[in-house]
Amino acid sequence: MDRNLLGKIVISGTLECLTGLHIGASKENMEIGAIDSPVVRDPATREPYIPGSSLKGKMRALLEKALSITKRRDIGTPNNPVRIHVCDDADDALKCEVCRVFGSTGRDGRKNFPARLMIRDLYLTRDSVSKLSDIDTGLQYTEWKFENAIDRVTSAANPRQIERVPRGAEFEFELIYNVEDNNHLETDLKNIKLALDLLELDSLGGHGSRGYGKVKINDLETKAITIDDLKTKSDGNPHEVSLEQIEEIKKLFAAAKNGSHHESLSV
Ligand SMILES: [Zn+2]
Repeated sequence: MDRNLLGKIVISGTLECLTGLHIGASKENMEIGAIDSPVVRDPATREPYIPGSSLKGKMRALLEKALSITKRRDIGTPNNPVRIHVCDDADDALKCEVCRVFGSTGRDGRKNFPARLMIRDLYLTRDSVSKLSDIDTGLQYTEWKFENAIDRVTSAANPRQIERVPRGAEFEFELIYNVEDNNHLETDLKNIKLALDLLELDSLGGHGSRGYGKVKINDLETKAITIDDLKTKSDGNPHEVSLEQIEEIKKLFAAAKNGSHHESLSV
């Protein structure tokens, strides 16, 4: 399957935590006596961050449900089944509103469909780093919350501390969508926007049902960059658009498609 690249759409903004956010890290590298459930941190700066894969997984799951896609495959292990929707090969994925945006791995050696949407890791804004540097919780940039569960039979308590990024913290986010087919542009962009809207009504990270992970997207900006622009100018001459200006965006990429040459990406 040949996949043309007509250009890129860059969607950026900030993601604000309206309640404490917990995206868990493995405890492997934690010292004994440390918090029970730590957050994931950048190893170089020690700042908490949101892996792009966490946001991508959440958006994908929300879209799957919103589009009522029920065909699922187990991508986990026998002890830890993980059932998600993934198309079985690249041809199916191209017709699937979820897989062509978020990607699919082929079943039993069939062809993968690499995602059209790339989500960068989200780092704290510099403003949030300086604000969080001043908080006095005994932890760097974070707070900890005490959670307790009581055994209904023995009344034994199961206390644990969960580390969270405090509410008010803001992360920079950037999504990059590869424009490969102008006919899919409208549906794909609407689905990306739908997933972001649903995220605000759901939660990110762990313990959402207990109030964690309410987030808000602020300062959403969209830039369209055609492949022809990229070839002629080093910065790609980005066109400022909004996600609602579908017709304008389509026109930009229709012109790119009619250009004298275009890239062919072979999968
Ligand atoms: Zn699919």
